[in-house]
Amino acid sequence: MASLPSSSTAPAKGSPRSLSGLVPFLKPYRGRITLAAIFLVLAAMATLVFPLALRGLIDGGLSTADKGTQVLALREHFVELFGVAVALGFFSAARFYTVSWLGERVTADLRNAVYAHVLRQSPEFFETAQTGEVLSRLTTDTTLVQTVVGSSLSVGLRNLVMGTGAMGMLVWTNPYVMTQVLGILVVVVLPSVWFGRRVRKLSRASQDRVADSSAIAAEVLGAIPVVQSYTAEAREAARFDASTTNAFDTAVRRTRARAVLIVFIIIATSAALLWGLYQGTQAVLAGKITAGHLGQTVVYVIMLAGSVGVLSEVYGDLLRAAGATERLMELLDSRSPVVSPENPAAARATQAGSAIEMVAVTFNYPSRPATPALREFNLEVAPGETVALVGPSGAGKSTVFQLLLRFYDPAQGDIRLDGVPTRELSLHDLRQRIGIVPQDAVVFSTSAMENIRYGKPGASDAEVVAAATAAFAHDFLTALPEGYDTFLGERGVRLSGGQRQRIAIARAILKNPPLLLLDEATSALDAESERMVQAALESAMQGRTTLVIAHRLATVQKADRIIVLDHGRIVEQGTHETLMAVNGVYARLAALQFMD
Ligand code: ADP
Repeated sequence: MASLPSSSTAPAKGSPRSLSGLVPFLKPYRGRITLAAIFLVLAAMATLVFPLALRGLIDGGLSTADKGTQVLALREHFVELFGVAVALGFFSAARFYTVSWLGERVTADLRNAVYAHVLRQSPEFFETAQTGEVLSRLTTDTTLVQTVVGSSLSVGLRNLVMGTGAMGMLVWTNPYVMTQVLGILVVVVLPSVWFGRRVRKLSRASQDRVADSSAIAAEVLGAIPVVQSYTAEAREAARFDASTTNAFDTAVRRTRARAVLIVFIIIATSAALLWGLYQGTQAVLAGKITAGHLGQTVVYVIMLAGSVGVLSEVYGDLLRAAGATERLMELLDSRSPVVSPENPAAARATQAGSAIEMVAVTFNYPSRPATPALREFNLEVAPGETVALVGPSGAGKSTVFQLLLRFYDPAQGDIRLDGVPTRELSLHDLRQRIGIVPQDAVVFSTSAMENIRYGKPGASDAEVVAAATAAFAHDFLTALPEGYDTFLGERGVRLSGGQRQRIAIARAILKNPPLLLLDEATSALDAESERMVQAALESAMQGRTTLVIAHRLATVQKADRIIVLDHGRIVEQGTHETLMAVNGVYARLAALQFMD
């Protein structure tokens, strides 16, 4: 069962352990990771050498008695310091590059994996998970992971190495200062950690508020004609305003908490450092340590305190990324209830088309377990036959299509295509044999040529043109500004309903499946389009088995057989004439719908 818990666009915190979900995504890049680690350690080492070189400069360069040697020694020490700086620069750049590369690569892989996985989910998944939520996971959550893999993790590791190094150097150079340093850390770190947690909670709240206002905007922009027809622009603007004000207030609260934290940290660390420095100067005056020693110690202490501060911040990032990883892994773990069998059977359609058999099929949509959409449904269609499905709305006509395509599996009954149960065919094989022309023809944002080629990737231009001609689309397509290369879809040329349908029919003709499922559009077309679409449908039905959900008399009359559904059962079947004579459900429907 596909189920996604809590839908919220703001990333929740997770346990750091969930980051282990990223391991399979990191594994292919072991070499890069080793390289990054080497640069990381080298850069940290260069930083740690800096104070040592500084000590040499102060003690060796400044304290020598003779002026001449002093100048020479100073030069030497500056060259040394510059050398350290050059090494630091190169190692840092190399670390930055390798680590950022890893972050980008892993994020891209993760995005691709999640997207490819989602594409294979059954409709049930999309009923429980909102598309918007899946999109948000693809962007927000993967970006968080990117922040961590591509930056926070390396910043954290660098500071860990540096902090440990600085601590080690301090213990080595002057153990007695260590007690004071540890004192500083406890005084500064404990309250900061406590306060940092509060700041984090507030930042999550503030992200939530931003997400709220985005959700409002997305909904309203999607329904802009309705909003404008109700002249609700001002109202909607005010609603958005209220939402952003809310986000602003939350952000201000977070910033205030952070500001307090900043005051505290700066004053507390400075006070502690100045105290240490005062002690140090006293020690220098007393001749216990050299000036260079003091300078070196101060730099190490600053490094150590800085690393600890950074580490506490990075920890927050890690937790957020852990939450994001958890949600992504959940998405990757969802299994579609409809899967291909391990050892798929093979089936062959006859030259005339596919044979369909549905025996005693009872099916409930997962979200409506109480009312079956089909009950004890039986249908047999011979190769090459054209069968029209008619019936009131909600009778179960589209459900027949959904089951044939195996978007769902029925609770009971058998569905066979060319004598083989559809469950035993591979999903690819099954769906490859079925062409579908939906009620609302889908036109993708690409050229007309590519839109039709969608039915058979790799088809030649000539094949596409032939399919378009058969679907009576060639004439209007060549009349477009750039003919078949005209860009269609949302940002391209808008087509009329009838033209879109003919594109969809051409796509299905190009696919050339032995079974065609047509869901006739209910919307009225003008007489000319109507005639063209009918002609296109007729040519699509040639040489294959066709099941058509019919709304038009012309379509029904072309069918070999009419099946009348009501409440998930077949209530009547026959030809238009015989059914009219019965004067039952069909005759009533005909009187209502086929009057034109
Ligand atoms: P028709 O195509 O004849 O209008 P459908 O096959 O779409 O009817 O629907 C049959 C029944 O199943 C209706 O009661 C409808 O409300 C229900 N139904 C259709 N699709 C779903 C779905 N995805 N989830 C739950 N119920 C559905």
